[in-house]
Amino acid sequence: MRIDKMLANMGYGTRKEVKGLLKGGNVRVNGQPEKSAKAHVNPENDQVTVMGEEVEYREYIYLMLNKPGDLISATEDAHETTVIDILQPEDQVFDPFPVGRLDKDTEGLLLITNDGQLNHRLTSPKKDVGKTYFALIEGKVTAEDVEKFAAGVTLDDGYQTKPGHLEILLSDEVSEIELTITEGKFHQVKRMFEAVDKTVTYLKRTKVGKLELDEELDLGEYRELTEEEIGYLK
Ligand code: URA
Repeated sequence: MRIDKMLANMGYGTRKEVKGLLKGGNVRVNGQPEKSAKAHVNPENDQVTVMGEEVEYREYIYLMLNKPGDLISATEDAHETTVIDILQPEDQVFDPFPVGRLDKDTEGLLLITNDGQLNHRLTSPKKDVGKTYFALIEGKVTAEDVEKFAAGVTLDDGYQTKPGHLEILLSDEVSEIELTITEGKFHQVKRMFEAVDKTVTYLKRTKVGKLELDEELDLGEYRELTEEEIGYLK
């Protein structure tokens, strides 16, 4: 990999700024000064230092955000604040993107990464990765609804969903439920409840596969996944 690309990826500035750093004699590769932006390095094996400080190279970033209900799941938008806009600049240099989408008003677990393969594994309907949601529902959710969800329901556009695992936590005028589905159709949870004549008034994702939302994270806070958590997703 070209050294200017590596340093720019690691947040040392734009390619132009990095070129200046190199020209100024601030960069060493395996102890030797390197002034050319075109020089190639192997980030795994070569030791690169900038002003004496070793550059720790990594290609991928994995973040867990507790998404608040006022951010959109996109990388950029002309009008609205996105889940990427709120990241620290040192995380933004990795060009991360959200894994799948949560509606603007949905809260909870959103993964953000630049690992395209992981994104595919988690979002492809063929991979059957469960996504678990907690929701408040207007009206009494019944055992009949549980059966209907288990069989799959027909959405407003005629799409027949795959089975969903519905658990009733509280059945009342406002019910509390947990639902696990393996698909991610547009507004899927809300539309599944519409299919049984009920309305979702609050929605929060709590789990993706075996990865659970860290409840220590306040809304709008995020952190890196641990190695163990990354392992759950692979
Ligand atoms: N289902 C929905 O209806 N909305 C979401 O944000 C996620 C799943």
